[in-house]
Amino acid sequence: MTTENETRIAIVTGGSKGIGRAICLELARGGCYVVINYRSDRPGAEQTLAMVNEEGGRGEIYGFDVRDGEAAEKAVEDIGQRLGGVDILVNNAGIVADSLFMLMPREKWQAVIDTTLNGFYNLTRPVLEWMARRRKGAIVSISSVSSLVANRGQANYSAAKAGLNAASRAVAAEVARMGIRVNVVAPGLIETEMIQQAPKEQIKTMIPMARIGRPEEVATVVGFLCSDAASYVTGQIIPVNGGMC
Ligand code: NDP
Repeated sequence: MTTENETRIAIVTGGSKGIGRAICLELARGGCYVVINYRSDRPGAEQTLAMVNEEGGRGEIYGFDVRDGEAAEKAVEDIGQRLGGVDILVNNAGIVADSLFMLMPREKWQAVIDTTLNGFYNLTRPVLEWMARRRKGAIVSISSVSSLVANRGQANYSAAKAGLNAASRAVAAEVARMGIRVNVVAPGLIETEMIQQAPKEQIKTMIPMARIGRPEEVATVVGFLCSDAASYVTGQIIPVNGGMC
């Protein structure tokens, strides 16, 4: 991502590992002060911060559950007041709770919708208040190829991620005139803890590039969308998936 003179304040949800960690590093390289959110893995978040610091970047860790609207709102208010605003939000926190739909317990449905879709609401709405004051900002949400193609066992995940796509596009249209851009990145299969159980060899046969992606390959696209280099890009869903259609 391009380095810009003014330090921008970025919040990344789920920054304790995986794609979120790579996004924190990418934004820090671009000159952002990164607020690294985590839910349960504090050591993971501390490790992300240490990696940011090792590269000369700056940031802090901030634990809260994106499902908890009150906690999220309080955190955004605190960050905005203390650091002078919020310039970038990356809604990255996500979980999977796969099950064939006919057998899916309500808890699995609810947990995925709460994390991805309610998490989007809980962070994005208060952050927009700060961005609107400055008439500038960039929001990127991490969706999935599962929001675009059918995946057995992922009705909850597909619904949540497709909702994220649609909500992002609607919000993008609402805030475009305020100088705020809202985009979505939809990764394919990326090497993280989340896909430990996935049948990787079988899935690889469906990927034209015949390999699993790396978190950094998602992070660079997020970094671009957050930067002024993407100043005319909003309301878009960008797949990063090795060519899956
Ligand atoms: P990981 O399981 O490696 O990391 C998930 C992150 O989300 C962790 O930092 C975790 O925090 C955080 N998190 C989960 N629930 C909450 C919550 N309620 N509040 C705050 N943080 C939370 O996943 P990935 O890095 O693979 O996934 C990152 C995003 O990318 C997700 O949205 C996922 O759906 C999406 N994605 C991933 C793909 C893949 O193949 N890996 C493909 C397509 C999309 P903690 O550890 O502290 O609990």
